[in-house]
Amino acid sequence: MVNGHHHSRNQQLSTSHSHWMRRCIVLAESAGQQGEVPVGALIVDSKGQLLAEGENRRERDCDPTAHAEIIALRAAGSALGSWHLDHCILYVTLEPCIMCAGALVLSRIGQVVYGTDDPKTGAVHTVLNIPNGLGVYHRFPVVRGVLAKECKQQLHQWFVQRRKEKKTSGILKSIETDPSARG
Ligand SMILES: [Zn+2]
Repeated sequence: MVNGHHHSRNQQLSTSHSHWMRRCIVLAESAGQQGEVPVGALIVDSKGQLLAEGENRRERDCDPTAHAEIIALRAAGSALGSWHLDHCILYVTLEPCIMCAGALVLSRIGQVVYGTDDPKTGAVHTVLNIPNGLGVYHRFPVVRGVLAKECKQQLHQWFVQRRKEKKTSGILKSIETDPSARG
């Protein structure tokens, strides 16, 4: 009975994790269509209600700090009327970077759930482990790999598409500047 109970609770948890991650993927898609690296994040409150959403806006805002997680943290603080986000869960498609991991520590977030590892700048597991680092007074549990395949694929496709577009615009440029390149 106890096992059965645990099983269904775990199942419930993983269902809601993938539910929220799907929404993050939609937010990331919207960013990607605007020429941003597709990353989406959201924050759910202690009652399991959606509190805030964010998508990467770095290019649009010309702001190196406009990562999806930061946008979501700011919106969550406003919605809650407090910067204190304990008992809240942040979901994000890509493993947080060092800045976002630091901001999550400062927000006293209850838990972080992410999609795919970031082998270059991941700062909660892959490259660094900020939440378990020295001098960090607030630790939070991290769940990795929720819809990891979908999240990874989305980023991969965006970069492939971008490379193609760059190539095309390079060809167009050479046609503009070099008349002999014209067919
Ligand atoms: Zn970040």
